[in-house]
Amino acid sequence: MARIFSGIQPSGELHIGNYLGAVKNWVQLQDQHPDAIFCIVDYHALTGNYDPAALRQRTREMAVSLLAAGIDPAKATLYAQSTVPQHTELAWIFNTITPLGELERQTQYKDKASRQESVVVGLLTYPVLQAADILLYRADTVPVGEDQVQHLELSREVARKWNLRFALEDAPYFPEPQPLLTPTRRIMGLDGKAKMSKSMGNTIGLLESGDEIWAKLRPAVTDPARVRKTDPGTPQVCNIYHLHKAFSPAPVVAEVAEKCSTAAWGCIACKQVLFEHMEAELVPIRRRAAELRDQPDLASEALAAGTARCRAIAAETMTAVKSAMGLE
Ligand code: SF4
Repeated sequence: MARIFSGIQPSGELHIGNYLGAVKNWVQLQDQHPDAIFCIVDYHALTGNYDPAALRQRTREMAVSLLAAGIDPAKATLYAQSTVPQHTELAWIFNTITPLGELERQTQYKDKASRQESVVVGLLTYPVLQAADILLYRADTVPVGEDQVQHLELSREVARKWNLRFALEDAPYFPEPQPLLTPTRRIMGLDGKAKMSKSMGNTIGLLESGDEIWAKLRPAVTDPARVRKTDPGTPQVCNIYHLHKAFSPAPVVAEVAEKCSTAAWGCIACKQVLFEHMEAELVPIRRRAAELRDQPDLASEALAAGTARCRAIAAETMTAVKSAMGLE
């Protein structure tokens, strides 16, 4: 039976970029797939600058955001990566079969390493830990954004290599996990930059109040060619239009495109309509988050149940892996 695995960095509260780009899709997938595992990847967070107390807090905040956004512990498994020690155990094993050159070729590594004076080994082997994350549960389907497709190719490569060397010829032990591309295109930052990212300060937090959201939405960058209200716009180049596609019903999206391209309304009116539709979706999420913060045991219990289930699966995998590799 298909098993889905996906992970998210413990960046604290979700922003709408990662909500639309990943988590909203997860919420739908948990209804379609009886075995979905979602992981807060706190080991991965160690490869960047971080403060230990803040990391713990951000992991908790991420759990609250995910549960508030609709991840249901009765349908899906949610846990923090570092509570299942076999992730790093399997990553070490995969380190021993992964060629250095393949890791050095990874675009994300080259990009990040080029911006750092001193590069830690963990940044290089990040995709190996990702392969371990997925293959520890022998997951065959991984919902990802396009920027993760190369890493997933490496996971397939690792699975192939391990199977070739250690599994029986007619019974590959690890599946080669396939990407399930997230349907929503990447949401740009409010400043028009290609990516919405906390470090760039161009996000809308999923749990921000209506007033805070409007204060950010109102001045957000639109079609730069639309200088005056009388200039017809091109909705496809406007981030606000793409947010409409994510939050507003189809007839509203069609109306937005029409009114924009014929200069029948101004950008503020367009944003007001978007804001209303965002609020319709986000108010219940904020309400659930407030309940979860009032009752912290709910998130703790969900994470603990997830950890217990994942440890059991991980223990089974490691027993099989170690046995095949001649380890005690
Ligand atoms: Fe963007 Fe809407 Fe303005 Fe068109 S009318 S440029 S879609 S904000």
